[in-house]
Amino acid sequence: MSLKGALCRRVLMPVRRLFSAESAKRHRLLRELEESQWWAAARLRDLQAERLRDIGGAAWKTPFYKKRFRGCRLSPSNDFTPEDLAKIPPLTKDDIRRYGGDLLDPSWPKEDLHPHRTGGSTGEPITVYAETDSEFAVWAMVTRHNRWAGWDFGERFALLWGATRDAMRMKKAFFETFSESLLTPRLWLNAFRMNRERMAEFADLLNRFKPRCVQSYASAAFFFAQYIQATGKELTFRPFGIITSADPLCPEYRPVIESVFGCPVFNRYGCREVMTLASECEAHAGLHVCAEHFIVEIVRPDFSPCAPGEAGEVLVTSLTRRAMPLIRYAIGDTAVLEKDEPCPCGRQLPRLREVQGRASDIFRLPGGTIVHGIFFSSIFYGNTMGVQKFQVLQDALDHFEIKLVVDERFQKAVVEKFRKEIEEFLEPGIRLDFRFVPEIEPGPTGKHRFAVSKVS
Ligand SMILES: [Zn+2]
Repeated sequence: MSLKGALCRRVLMPVRRLFSAESAKRHRLLRELEESQWWAAARLRDLQAERLRDIGGAAWKTPFYKKRFRGCRLSPSNDFTPEDLAKIPPLTKDDIRRYGGDLLDPSWPKEDLHPHRTGGSTGEPITVYAETDSEFAVWAMVTRHNRWAGWDFGERFALLWGATRDAMRMKKAFFETFSESLLTPRLWLNAFRMNRERMAEFADLLNRFKPRCVQSYASAAFFFAQYIQATGKELTFRPFGIITSADPLCPEYRPVIESVFGCPVFNRYGCREVMTLASECEAHAGLHVCAEHFIVEIVRPDFSPCAPGEAGEVLVTSLTRRAMPLIRYAIGDTAVLEKDEPCPCGRQLPRLREVQGRASDIFRLPGGTIVHGIFFSSIFYGNTMGVQKFQVLQDALDHFEIKLVVDERFQKAVVEKFRKEIEEFLEPGIRLDFRFVPEIEPGPTGKHRFAVSKVS
């Protein structure tokens, strides 16, 4: 532990816990995770079974699961064992879109629910609600992984990231915000839009800030690293780790990022609905599932379990979300499970070998600006009602066609607002055409892609 880390842990964090119940909860959750990461696989499975029982009970309070469980011949007196779990049909995005309200425990206080809106890989917005306690758990999971990547409390942390909404989502008291900034001094660089000038600026800012750890969209870290290589610009700091997330870490990305930053990449897998699911440790031998909070299944098309090494669909069960239980939620990604043996790091948390899917295209503009596909989902799933599906198609360097499938809640005047926001973000002279369509055909893989570039 560094001196700063020791000061933070021994002085600042105890003070924080004393003055804020919220901090006390966050830090207790982190302490628990830092202990349980070393538990034997059997003990982890016992914890999962205990938490699953509890989630089964929470699910019986919701109209949706009451019906679904009865359909599977379960009764409230069942313990909800892993065997019972295997009987439940996967929860699809379509289920959430259709029955969203029925998935909520009606007695849960509304003010304790935090919406997570997502277009996911399908471009069809859905909203998932999480209670405050599960937001604290996300903090603990993320912080545990940041520490695997060599960061410690008090050390500088840079983000090459786009969705500032993530940071703003929860309103915090002044003391929380202030002490947080001491525990994690942050530099935020907007990765939605990158060009040569901005990347030069990023390099200068990073050189001045000297982060211990950098978190980035995998593609943004790669483009930035390519820019540094091509220009011969120097990075004068040496972080301990680069955490990549949000889009897939393509095999060609890792060596370029590692050579430019001079440190290893720690990949992280998650999605907006449940945030962090699995993350890479210092042994770089797959991604450890956060098994204390999730059961991650990899299944065949008939929902039977895949063998290690076999690619299948990802189903996620949250073991701690009670307000809106997510049971066998089909995220829409494909992954491969690693063999059931301990990782060289010593942790027995199960591992994913690789995760596929969720690729969003990257758009290149005539002036060299790179725009991340996720930018568009932030526009369309933001606060607008009625967008059912969207697809952004770049068919020429300076032309985008934007298809929207909307329902009766959508107000056509909003299109002008979209146009303005997008035009301000892209380079001048880019033409945008909006089209309202009844349906968007899936791509050749059968999967709907929300961002497609035919010129990149
Ligand atoms: Zn490991």
